[in-house]
Amino acid sequence: MSAKILDGKAISQKVRDEVREGVGRFVAAHGRPPGLDVILVGDDPASAVYTRNKEKASNEVGMRGRLHRLPAETGEDELLGLIASLNADDAVDGILVQLPLPKAIREARVLDAVDPAKDVDGFHPVNAGLLATGRPGLVPCTPSGCMRLLAEAGVALAGARAVVVGRSNIVGKPMAQLLLAQHATVTIAHSRTRDLPAVCREADVLVVAVGKAAVVGAGAVKEGAVVIDVGMNRNEAGKLTGDVDFDAVKERASWITPVPGGVGPMTIAFLLENTLVAARARAGSPG
Ligand code: NAP
Repeated sequence: MSAKILDGKAISQKVRDEVREGVGRFVAAHGRPPGLDVILVGDDPASAVYTRNKEKASNEVGMRGRLHRLPAETGEDELLGLIASLNADDAVDGILVQLPLPKAIREARVLDAVDPAKDVDGFHPVNAGLLATGRPGLVPCTPSGCMRLLAEAGVALAGARAVVVGRSNIVGKPMAQLLLAQHATVTIAHSRTRDLPAVCREADVLVVAVGKAAVVGAGAVKEGAVVIDVGMNRNEAGKLTGDVDFDAVKERASWITPVPGGVGPMTIAFLLENTLVAARARAGSPG
């Protein structure tokens, strides 16, 4: 079997088009665009690219995107002050603090300071709790993007065996919650899991979010499985690779996401979607 490719580039464009239409309706109903404020502290080059892309993408769908660049030596209190002012600003619907933060700043304290109603990354404990209890809230963007890819491929999740490799708060855990909400039987694997290939071979749907190139090879994949590769690793040549041995696994899987061009573009599309969701909820209307 040679897997069909789950084209995150094309599907993310579809999501962005949907969001652009939603933004048009929001502007017509409320007389202002949804606002997304992205905060970057320090000068990590990768983070600078990510945040610029987020600002640009939000403006492209008709939102008011704004990037706040703060120097690396910014103190925690100063950052908390900016978050407080954005929390209080009615024109701000989404606040995103780019991670990682400089070491001197306590990440949890900063993320907890974001108003949960504006927490478009879905990292606030209130939103994590809402997801865990099956209530509406803001859901982390990467797992939401993975779910949309599965939906676009028409993967039936009810009763399916799903394995999520990785248990981070931003990918693995919310991914498992979303699969569970769609009635999959979910296993979460991690660095202490015994015989990872055997656990992965159980999966009809395998989601890998580890951050290690080729941690999943063909021997860890059941014939016909759907494989979602969240990983983003740079090899020695500087080329972006996933966590899955793509060339080998595509011969066993039924569907597979490439890296790049799979999950990555979905994440930013769902950041835009979350900003629209937050704006609508704050405006108290579906428009
Ligand atoms: P993370 O916080 O470092 O978590 C990695 C997880 O992988 C941990 O739960 C860890 O287990 C587990 N793990 C490590 N080595 C393992 C092994 N050998 N076997 C099984 N599990 C292992 O990373 P993350 O933030 O979730 O991100 C994971 C990957 O996704 C990274 O490559 C990241 O760059 C990428 N990512 C991509 C996007 C995107 O938009 N495409 C978005 C977010 C993240 P323990 O908990 O036991 O340590």
